[in-house]
Amino acid sequence: MATVNSVLGPLDTGQIGFTLSHEHVLVSSAGVPALFPEFLELPRRKEDIVKALTGAYAEGVRTIIDCSTIDLGRDVPLMVEVSKRSRVQIIACTGVWTQIPRAFNQATVDQFAAMFTREIQVGMQGTNVKAGAIKVANDEPHFRPEEINILRGAARAAKATGVPITTHSGHSWIVEKVGPMQVQIFEEEGLNLNQVYIGHSDSTKNMEYLTWLAKKGVWLGMDTLKGGAARPGTDGNPGNPDWEERTVILKKLMDAGFTNRLMLGHDWSTFSTNAQGERDVQKQKNNPDGYLFITRKVLPRLKQLGATDKDIHTVMVDNPRRFFENKK
Ligand SMILES: [Zn+2]
Repeated sequence: MATVNSVLGPLDTGQIGFTLSHEHVLVSSAGVPALFPEFLELPRRKEDIVKALTGAYAEGVRTIIDCSTIDLGRDVPLMVEVSKRSRVQIIACTGVWTQIPRAFNQATVDQFAAMFTREIQVGMQGTNVKAGAIKVANDEPHFRPEEINILRGAARAAKATGVPITTHSGHSWIVEKVGPMQVQIFEEEGLNLNQVYIGHSDSTKNMEYLTWLAKKGVWLGMDTLKGGAARPGTDGNPGNPDWEERTVILKKLMDAGFTNRLMLGHDWSTFSTNAQGERDVQKQKNNPDGYLFITRKVLPRLKQLGATDKDIHTVMVDNPRRFFENKK
């Protein structure tokens, strides 16, 4: 029986259930949760997170893939606690996002591969909690040497462990440039593309690009479905589709035969240290449904557009399960 590493231990992939493919319980920066906990007002924020996840569980969410890395302030003990208390299963990631610590500038591909592999096989942050996926991120269509080393290191760790890769491929039209560059590096490393999830692919309406991506055999992360809600200010990017346009694209991809390549998420965080005060108020106002926006808005609209319950089960349950079952 196949298993995936959740923060509470190995999880039978058959138990993964309704899964949001790219979320965060908390977003911050490297070292901040551990060194400046007062900046996070963690006791209060933790209760907010538990409340949000408990509410999500009550409406059917069973698993989230938390795509936080070192440079997003990944806090493994926090994930463990909120998972236990809310019952939502959390799959945590190793890897690095776009704010690569300068300490890694000279790190080699094999050093990255070894670090990611250790977090998958031994544990993260001094715990025995193991990563279930490898997160990598690129924002610009010009990769710096350290970004390339991280991508190659991630590919080698994925090959060695069977754990899949989840990417951030930028926003708006940028994804059409960055996605293929990520795919190319993984191909050069000889990684099975069924182990690759190209995140934020819903940032574009370009069906030609999305069809190309699906035909490549990667998973399409349609995972910023509330648009810029998680990142106030990005909603207004020219050409950045709103959620209704994204939902139409989803249906078009289903009609084109790619239902079995899609996964859905919000890129939501109940709390982000990057959005405090007025910005936090705005962010919550933009998405009062939080982790339930897909359940309450996107899926009903997909059904109106003609998607069946079976299609939705494939995207929300079967695809995440199959993504993790690629594991050796
Ligand atoms: Zn994210």
